[in-house]
Amino acid sequence: MRPLIASIRLDHLRHNYRLAKQRHGGRVLAVLKANAYGHGAPQCARALEDIADGFAVACLEEALQLREAGIRRPILLLEGVFEAEELQAVDAHDLWMAVTSERQLAMVEASAPARPFHIWLMLDSGMHREGLSPQDYPAAWRRLEKSGKAASLTRMTHFARADEPGVAMTFSQLETFDAVARQLPASEESVANSAGMLCHERARRSWGRAGILLYGADPLPSGVAADAGMLPVMRLASRVFGVRELAAGEPVGYGDNFVSARPTRVGLVACGYADGYPRLASTGSPVSIDGVRSRLIGRVSMDMLTVDLTDLPAAGIGSEVELWGDAISVNEVAACAGTISYELLCNVKRAAFRYL
Ligand SMILES: *Cc1c(COP(=O)(O)O)cnc(C)c1O
Repeated sequence: MRPLIASIRLDHLRHNYRLAKQRHGGRVLAVLKANAYGHGAPQCARALEDIADGFAVACLEEALQLREAGIRRPILLLEGVFEAEELQAVDAHDLWMAVTSERQLAMVEASAPARPFHIWLMLDSGMHREGLSPQDYPAAWRRLEKSGKAASLTRMTHFARADEPGVAMTFSQLETFDAVARQLPASEESVANSAGMLCHERARRSWGRAGILLYGADPLPSGVAADAGMLPVMRLASRVFGVRELAAGEPVGYGDNFVSARPTRVGLVACGYADGYPRLASTGSPVSIDGVRSRLIGRVSMDMLTVDLTDLPAAGIGSEVELWGDAISVNEVAACAGTISYELLCNVKRAAFRYL
């Protein structure tokens, strides 16, 4: 068997959920979109079902996968529906949904559900991606109240820059949100993603929406999740399956990305960009070989990558290589590839998933 293994520590997931909830207070949705950020949505949902207040996903397909897996807790569609026909399934499977635009609002008004919907009405408080403007929001709220199609209404917004704690934008988004809320009857509210929950006390409202921090990765490049006690859920590891000796001045792999400055022992590792390891990770990206830090050298190929064994004389065929997890944080690898941990985790595939 190919030795690339993604170990998913479900006890860490539970630990992180509990901590997130302690930190936020109130209730917390566990965000399981994108196959639980690459960790396996049905498995993660089952592991959390007895402690989570509810789940959130991006779309109907993801919600139905969880219902089919036997998940009975509330599931929120964070982007609502894309077509009016989906409302029948929202109704039949007892899903909650965001309403983020005039178009979706009109679909709800025109619908005939067996039971009224649980709706999270999205305010655009400054991110300018989705949501109703502060001018249109109160009228939209009242239309939903009047329609008789809403069993409950929750106010929601989303932060653009909560991962930059000093930046004023989050505060101005909160002010906009609260100013709109003052024009409306009291209701449940949800504003915080992971960064909001960790860094902004004023963002702790009725419902938190915890994504990346559940998986023990960091919403901030500077790192707050580990300080908050979060534990990495995924450990991606493979093995050395070949060893090459290079003389000084010899290249390895595609292109001229790496040329050895000294005699170099190279380990071939079964993990490549087709497995989700970022091709843009450059020479020097960290790996842990039998528990000792070393580095990636040369370009990442589709099915393998190459690491430096020169200073690890005991390492060889069969040595374990952690790509990220405990010794190597996924945030660190993401930084080496000019991206964020979210993208790396979501992209893991072809590995054997082991649920622990
Ligand atoms: C994905 C998402 C979240 C979770 O974000 P994290 O940064 O992973 O915590 C929260 N709210 C909405 C609307 C989302 O789309």
